[in-house]
Amino acid sequence: MTDTTTGALEAELDELRDWLRDTWDPDLTVGAWWERLGMAGWAQPLLPRDAYGRGMGHAESLAVHREIERHGALGAPTGLGLLLAAPTIATHGTPDQVARYVPDIVTGRRAWCQLFSEPGAGSDLAGLSTRAVRDGDSWIVNGQKVWTSGGHLADLGMLLARTNPDVPKHRGITWFAIDMRQPGVEVRPLREMTGSTMFSEVFLTDAVVTDDARIGDVDDGWRVANTTLTFERTGMGGGGRSLPPARPGTVTGDLSLRAGDLVAARPGPAATPSGPRQSPAADLIALAARRGRSGDPVVRQALVRLHVLGELARVSGLRQRAARAAGHDVPGLPSFTKLMMGDALRLRRDLGLRLLGPAGTLHGYTDEERAGLTSAAPGVASPIVTGQALAAQALPIFGGTDQIQRNILAERVLGLPKEPGDLSQVPFSQLPRNA
Ligand SMILES: Cc1cc2nc3c(=O)[nH]c(=O)nc-3n(C[C@H](O)[C@H](O)[C@H](O)COP(=O)(O)OP(=O)(O)OC[C@H]3O[C@@H](n4cnc5c(N)ncnc54)[C@H](O)[C@@H]3O)c2cc1C
Repeated sequence: MTDTTTGALEAELDELRDWLRDTWDPDLTVGAWWERLGMAGWAQPLLPRDAYGRGMGHAESLAVHREIERHGALGAPTGLGLLLAAPTIATHGTPDQVARYVPDIVTGRRAWCQLFSEPGAGSDLAGLSTRAVRDGDSWIVNGQKVWTSGGHLADLGMLLARTNPDVPKHRGITWFAIDMRQPGVEVRPLREMTGSTMFSEVFLTDAVVTDDARIGDVDDGWRVANTTLTFERTGMGGGGRSLPPARPGTVTGDLSLRAGDLVAARPGPAATPSGPRQSPAADLIALAARRGRSGDPVVRQALVRLHVLGELARVSGLRQRAARAAGHDVPGLPSFTKLMMGDALRLRRDLGLRLLGPAGTLHGYTDEERAGLTSAAPGVASPIVTGQALAAQALPIFGGTDQIQRNILAERVLGLPKEPGDLSQVPFSQLPRNA
């Protein structure tokens, strides 16, 4: 996945504009439109050309997504299939596997989830214990996954399973593309404190995955998983693009909606306010003014801290993207940026709730409940601020917790010694466990 030069990018964008003029039709269904977009290589331009992409870099890919939006067409599908599964399969899969899985992803026909974390394996992902045992041309899978984002909406899962417990933990894991719609896979949605259902627990009981759905070699899944995790950490192509109000896959039914209706429902580029960029603290500055707290020195200090942190996180993100576009990395910058974003979210949570006072505890779990709160107590409750405060815990956990980011910075950037008690060479079956 290389970066294109400015001239080459302009040529690609010209080609895209012509293509959009000839191809976009608001009367198409979402499925039919995504079919065209995906098969033309515009859904995930970061993928290589021989894997239904355009071999572009991050900045160029973002320019493609913005051009689609500027044209007034429905944006490309999104989700873990596009962000993680497709680039992983493009990197480690055989040409047959690329042809089998990637078209369904770039066209949004199938949705994917990530079956990595387990109740006993999160930060220490290599300690996972879901087992896959060979049975002829298939593997039989038993175990439990948790935190599975979109598990209840997924057609396929990126499964990590232990295929050899007698070697050190990183060396006995295999990466599979498993069918989620089979009797051996039970998905139990979890309701979070925000009121939404983002994750599920997934129970695998004699679930079957065929050997031709194995991505990479047997027992070499840690290497494949690291590709997936790298794309997760770098948020492949996601940052900066508006997400389409339609979800991929067979479960939601969104593919049969009229594409034009969804574009009409979203604020288009014309509706985007022009002029100077707003402060990352703008909404809380306005809330402080509404609550008559703009003169409170503690509130003012927190607002300034939030502005500075938000700006630092933004420019660090830009720096990271620029470095990637130039083909290199700034050591530790992704960890540092993630930590700053987590700090900004926590500060936003604390300040928002301080401004709302007791009304900050009023929260609706559904759209109707939230609308009811706003109309019953106008100007008192703010379901948006409370909702953001409740969701602020997510970022400091997923994609590597804050503590893990600090470990990375300590060991890989500052050169501090590794944690004591290294068990990486002990066979998985001999690792000490809780009783
Ligand atoms: C919003 C969200 C979406 C997610 N989506 C998915 C998904 O789709 N698929 C999936 O597989 N997983 C998903 N996850 C799971 C996520 O990857 C894990 O929650 C994360 O890796 C942490 O693992 P854990 O929850 O088991 O915590 P643990 O690893 O048990 O950690 C518990 C605490 O101990 C600390 N800790 C652990 N090890 C160390 C150490 N070595 N040094 C210092 N402190 C340490 C941690 O920082 C944490 O505070 C998601 C999580 C969230 C919040």
